[in-house]
Amino acid sequence: MSIFTPGRRWQPPFMPFKHESPGQRVLASLEIIVKGPLWGCRMCGNCLLQETAFICPMECPKGMRNGPCGGSTPESCYVDKTRPCIWYEIYNRSFKMGRQEKLMEVLPPLDWEKTGGETWGDVVGRVKEMGMGRVIKGLVFRKSEERAETWDGIFRPIRQPEWWQGDSEYHEPKNQEPASELERKLKAGEFVVACEITPPLSTSTNKLSSNIDLVKPYVTAINFTDNASATPRMTSWACSKIAIDRGAEPVMQIAARDRTRAGLQGEILGASALGVRNVLCVTGDSPVLAPQPRGRMDINDLDAIQMLWILRRMRDEGHYLDGREIKFPPRIFLGAAASPFASDPKFQALREHKKINAGAQFFQTNLVYDIDRMEIWLNELAKRNVLDKVFIMVGITPLKSLKMTRYMTDVPGVWMPEPIIKRMEAADAAGNAQEEGVQIALELARKVKSFEKQGIHGLHIMPVGWEDIIPRIVKEAGLL
Ligand code: SF4
Repeated sequence: MSIFTPGRRWQPPFMPFKHESPGQRVLASLEIIVKGPLWGCRMCGNCLLQETAFICPMECPKGMRNGPCGGSTPESCYVDKTRPCIWYEIYNRSFKMGRQEKLMEVLPPLDWEKTGGETWGDVVGRVKEMGMGRVIKGLVFRKSEERAETWDGIFRPIRQPEWWQGDSEYHEPKNQEPASELERKLKAGEFVVACEITPPLSTSTNKLSSNIDLVKPYVTAINFTDNASATPRMTSWACSKIAIDRGAEPVMQIAARDRTRAGLQGEILGASALGVRNVLCVTGDSPVLAPQPRGRMDINDLDAIQMLWILRRMRDEGHYLDGREIKFPPRIFLGAAASPFASDPKFQALREHKKINAGAQFFQTNLVYDIDRMEIWLNELAKRNVLDKVFIMVGITPLKSLKMTRYMTDVPGVWMPEPIIKRMEAADAAGNAQEEGVQIALELARKVKSFEKQGIHGLHIMPVGWEDIIPRIVKEAGLL
């Protein structure tokens, strides 16, 4: 990719209604004249170009500011297949330039007060604060380390406002007492099994309740998705409460796509008060997958990493994002999704590392059908020394038919190996595809278990509506 990226993606600039001085308006016009043609600038007013190897991340259709989503591939963005994944490009260039660790800093969501406005005024203001002489000396006459320090002294206060203060460090959870049974078992070194139950499409809870009762004896925790594929269903917190009432432990999933800052913080307090102790933060599928009429398709208010950062600080530091104190903070075990097969294993490992720093204590991975390939990703995590800071549960989905197998080859972040496709084709021809799918799931479950002492702590079964199969997989794979 060339240094400048003129007109790569036309998107409307963020132009809010607000009063600005004539000087600010002149500066804003100049900025868009210069940065628009060079980098496709949308005037987000929260410029990150110097952190992202001079590629503007606001080209991402989800507005991700902390790295790629789980659908990132070297070929294209999964939301708009005519475009490259802009975060793949950013990672690629950053690794080539040796600037990848710059991507580790947890960056804030957009400050909407600043969108549409100029950013150069902030830079000039910072230079004045630091003193022009000091800046010139630091940038021109000093060694590279001091140059970087001066540079950071200018830009860090601009990109990290008081209310955020993101960094690249690991923050150990404050309370070591397990918040949930899932956390207790993982910390005790047990190999755990969790599963997913699809929330109902109506207010009837009969099937949901019977599924919870069916799987409860076989798993430690049950995940409830949050409008998966951007398609409305019963909320995750309502399903979680029903599970608690039936004596099961839920993992409440929260998709950033459907949350504002206020909504997220209020919901987590409510969920915690209702007894929800495990929370899994995901960015969420793009509304492009949703049925019509679709919601806003070009920007999320938050991403999964920002959610983790906010929730960890609510729990461990006892305050809201706006700084108000929380007298009784939420008690939660924080998790995130991991994607071993999206983009490049070393890119994904960096992203997973950032999630751990932001607050992720456990990962549930996207579907894994190739354990050997997953090992490459595990090795990348090991190189980053993070395997002792997070519990990893590997996701599997039993294949019910050849059609489903073929469908999975197109799911972003899923890698379907050729031998499995061949097995399912042969079984389909013999009228035995469903049983073959179960056998493949059993083999995968046993292989996952064999990694127990090598960074893997559990299995996460996602049956996509085939909940009846869970007891058989758990029993026959020897995981009960
Ligand atoms: S694949 Fe995901 S991260 Fe990459 S540009 Fe598309 S939406 Fe953004």
